[in-house]
Amino acid sequence: MSRRGNDEFEIDLEALRLRYRDERAKRLRADATGQFQPLKGRFADFAKDPHADPGLSRAPCVEAVDVAIIGGGFGGLLAGGRLREAGVESLRIIDKAADFGGTWYWNRYPGVACDVESYVYLPFLEETGYIPSEKYARGGEIFEHCRRIGRHYRLYDGALFQTEVTRVAWDETGKRWIVSTDRGDRIAARFVVSCKGLYNSPKLPGIPGIEDFQGRSFHTSRWDYAYTGGAADQDLAGLEDKAVGIIGTGSTGIQCVPRLAERSKHLYVFQRTPSSIDARNNRPTDPAWAATLSPGWHRRRIENFTLVTAGVPQAEDLVEDSWTDLLGAGAGAADGEAKPLDPAALDRSQFMKMEVVRRRVEAVVKDRATAEALKPYYHYLCKRPGFSDEYLEAFNRPNVTLVDTDGRGVERITPHGVVAGGAEYRLDCLIFATGFDFMNNYVREAGFDVIGRGGLALSECWAGGVRTLFGMQAHGFPNFFVVSLIQAGVSFNYMHIADEQARHIAYVISRCLEARIETAEPAAEAVSDWVETVLASAGARRAFLDGCTPGYIDQEGRRDSAFDLNASYPKGPVSYLELLESWRAEGSMQGLVVEPAGC
Ligand code: NDP
Repeated sequence: MSRRGNDEFEIDLEALRLRYRDERAKRLRADATGQFQPLKGRFADFAKDPHADPGLSRAPCVEAVDVAIIGGGFGGLLAGGRLREAGVESLRIIDKAADFGGTWYWNRYPGVACDVESYVYLPFLEETGYIPSEKYARGGEIFEHCRRIGRHYRLYDGALFQTEVTRVAWDETGKRWIVSTDRGDRIAARFVVSCKGLYNSPKLPGIPGIEDFQGRSFHTSRWDYAYTGGAADQDLAGLEDKAVGIIGTGSTGIQCVPRLAERSKHLYVFQRTPSSIDARNNRPTDPAWAATLSPGWHRRRIENFTLVTAGVPQAEDLVEDSWTDLLGAGAGAADGEAKPLDPAALDRSQFMKMEVVRRRVEAVVKDRATAEALKPYYHYLCKRPGFSDEYLEAFNRPNVTLVDTDGRGVERITPHGVVAGGAEYRLDCLIFATGFDFMNNYVREAGFDVIGRGGLALSECWAGGVRTLFGMQAHGFPNFFVVSLIQAGVSFNYMHIADEQARHIAYVISRCLEARIETAEPAAEAVSDWVETVLASAGARRAFLDGCTPGYIDQEGRRDSAFDLNASYPKGPVSYLELLESWRAEGSMQGLVVEPAGC
């Protein structure tokens, strides 16, 4: 439904504001992010890799390279690919998984797919000569594309899989980073690029009794196909005689539920907060359209998506989907200029979008009480919007029950099931679609510390929040880079930002290698200036989130002291990308202190 269509109906804004406030109040909890626990200690079994060879053994690797890349998801693949294009041959990618893919390696749950259009989300399409098969690609195809990139740029050469980095420490004498791993490797690298990804640290809820459940239980990022049968795009025959429960109705839950509903004897969906479910409208790629694409199409489309979703008027909206529709900024005026979004227009647009979403629930879900419970009451961008043409429909099946907890969450887990609203639901299998630790603590989420110049630990340096230049480099940590959303411009298409960061990092590293620069490190003042820019919008961000229902985006409604720094660059993705480009074009590496190599 288009925004112009959204404007056709009336809504009572004041009544909705009050309802949103009440729904938020119901969900605020004193323990906030403390309500979750990592997949560690007594929950370590939840973290095991179902896809890896448990018997892998190899000799430790002791060597010197120009670049060590930590993480083989899209961030690491982008960094590796752009470095190869810049002529860097000596590099190694290290990842705890058994292959490339990151998020798309781990998340193989049934129905997994990407909500951002594949023609803008997937990187290196022209470079690899690949056209995705559908507008919204499925997880298996995305994972395969990761492997294609790995082959295309020869990144498999020397890659260390099933290997966890334990420590990265700067050796001032040799001017090298020493990367240590859990397999005894010791890699001396001139440069390190840390690409931990956004969702690499799954979490479980601290629901009382969670450790007592005697049936089969797993997190969605470690799906147990040996138990459920099937595969990501096949039916789950093993569940035919099973009562299955799923806790979590975010983007992951939305995608699993239809597949679970098809095969489970009975499926109980435990809901704390309903997601917004907009139309998905997926379709196969039209070969006739693909044949019309001319060189440069991929970059043009990626840029068009970011500009349109940032509210910059464009002559044409190339993607035309629910993301680009939000502000109605698609077609119309040409040659628009980047300017900050009008908060009032965005506010109204979000109210309208949510009304469309609620009406959609009413139109699809037949049982009135279930439909009411599935209607979300909060600002559209308070939570990650969801898209599906199958999720709401699943609740019309006789073998599917929505157990709505009215914002409170389930009460208890017993050896045989889940207690909610005072009733016990007996289950054979309990699945946690409860998400990931997100932008709370970089070092904890990465899983290793970085010891910089003078023994300075990144965990201490960033304890009160991240401090960077451009979201990529830190003072005290020469030749160290991160690909990350923190203190960077944010687009609905994260891949665009990650790619531009990868190009930027490849530029700095190749300049250093060519010009025989030993170290490049941001000056303290350059970092302070960038941090001030980020902090300038902290008040506005808090004001918006104060009206939001709690979630991972706002640390469950109770923000810690690091929250304002672990934020994005406030002027938006267009300004961020322009700034990086003009910095490179200027050519003097402003803000970096460089030390030439000795003779
Ligand atoms: P989320 O953090 O978005 O969702 C977690 C879910 O668990 C929420 O519904 C939450 O409820 C619920 N929950 C947590 N604790 C309890 C409890 N005690 N009782 C009941 N329910 C509970 O995680 P996801 O894995 O769904 O998604 C993470 C992110 O990954 C997304 O936001 C998205 O950015 C990305 N993603 C993208 C996909 C795509 O492109 N298609 C697909 C999947 C993920 P509440 O809302 O009340 O906190």
